[in-house]
Amino acid sequence: MNATDNSHPLGAAARADVLVVGAGLAGLHTATLLARRGHDVLLVERRARLAGAIRTTGIFVQKTLDDFPLPPEHLGPPIRRVVLYPPGLRRPVSLVSARDEYRVGDMGPLYETAAAAAVDAGVRMALATRYAGRQGDTCRLVGRGGPTAVRARFVVGADGARSKVARDLALDRNRHLLVGAEEVFEVPGSDEPPTFHCVLDPSLAPGYLAWVVNDGRHAHVGVAGYADRFPEGLRRALERFGASAPGLAGVDRPEAVERRGGPIPVGGVLRRISCADGLLVGDAAGAVSPLTAGGLDPCLRLSEFAAAVLDDALRTGRPEVLAGYDGAALRARFRGRLVLRRGLAHVRTPAWAAAAFTLLRTPPGRAAAGRVLFGDRSFPDPPRG
Ligand SMILES: Cc1cc2nc3c(=O)[nH]c(=O)nc-3n(C[C@H](O)[C@H](O)[C@H](O)COP(=O)(O)OP(=O)(O)OC[C@H]3O[C@@H](n4cnc5c(N)ncnc54)[C@H](O)[C@@H]3O)c2cc1C
Repeated sequence: MNATDNSHPLGAAARADVLVVGAGLAGLHTATLLARRGHDVLLVERRARLAGAIRTTGIFVQKTLDDFPLPPEHLGPPIRRVVLYPPGLRRPVSLVSARDEYRVGDMGPLYETAAAAAVDAGVRMALATRYAGRQGDTCRLVGRGGPTAVRARFVVGADGARSKVARDLALDRNRHLLVGAEEVFEVPGSDEPPTFHCVLDPSLAPGYLAWVVNDGRHAHVGVAGYADRFPEGLRRALERFGASAPGLAGVDRPEAVERRGGPIPVGGVLRRISCADGLLVGDAAGAVSPLTAGGLDPCLRLSEFAAAVLDDALRTGRPEVLAGYDGAALRARFRGRLVLRRGLAHVRTPAWAAAAFTLLRTPPGRAAAGRVLFGDRSFPDPPRG
């Protein structure tokens, strides 16, 4: 038995206080917090290995690193420098923070460390096990041994942007999505400072950004945007960008690269994210900053709130306390970012992007960009348990 596959987690009784669906960061964190409070938690994940099929670049903002104990040995060097490029890459705007701003997680080991902590806390974890639906308080699972059923008092949908649990609990679902894809490969060390390069070019990344993060250990080369607006599709956009991406001088792209990708909800936290039978966390709840598309910090913060509310409901036997887990209240607190997201969505032509750079090169433009990129404001702090 390895640390993250605790033998026969479904067990003969097939009951749990809480069934958590999805072992991304949101599911792992919620499950661990609940188990630490003494609840019987079953965590199911359809992937067979948590280090495979990763869907994130893994950029953590400093505020997350300050507030959550992520293992430093699985984090890349600190990044202070962001370079913003217009279409054509000429006259970029360089912003350097006085403090460390980001670190890129080595996500495979980070997920595995979080899974080991979950199992240590008492979470029963079933990998290669898919949540297939729900009837009454019984959920259908399909695992290595075939279909099975589990009765759980509460279900947590930590199953990502296209959450099946949200559908089954009749909760809100993400409708406003970007899609992103990136390649990851090792880079030789260089004298360049670790840098986050962002290209604002709607022909490459319609409605969002193309990026290169080169922290001197790994390069992440990616694009994201509205799926129906890529002129030649997402894959071709990534190929085009990869051929001329900035920040990779002296770096040869190896033949074999790791490929990552997936949907990114950017419509803001959904309004209805709980009911008497369960709740949603992470991407399933739309907990992603609509402007920066960062979801790692929000998913950790919202998981703490979710675990506190579920703990209360289990201890008191009062499912109605889950009504306090209210997406509408959280959503109201980042209305400004939704407005800015709409602004970014409207940058539809390279000419518009170039015009935006005229503004960005002015002192107020640079100050505004600095506030978005270095602002410590990726997600409103929900009440913590
Ligand atoms: C290309 C890309 C790059 C990104 N880069 C960053 C970044 O650098 N920084 C940042 O802050 N945010 C980034 N994001 C967003 C961030 O990665 C997500 O917001 C965050 O990882 C969400 O975590 P989660 O646990 O909610 O969902 P996920 O990590 O998607 O986890 C959901 C899990 O549920 C499992 N699952 C789904 N359905 C089922 C089922 N039926 N049964 C069992 N298991 C199921 C999936 O296999 C998955 O493991 C990026 C997103 C993308 C797509």
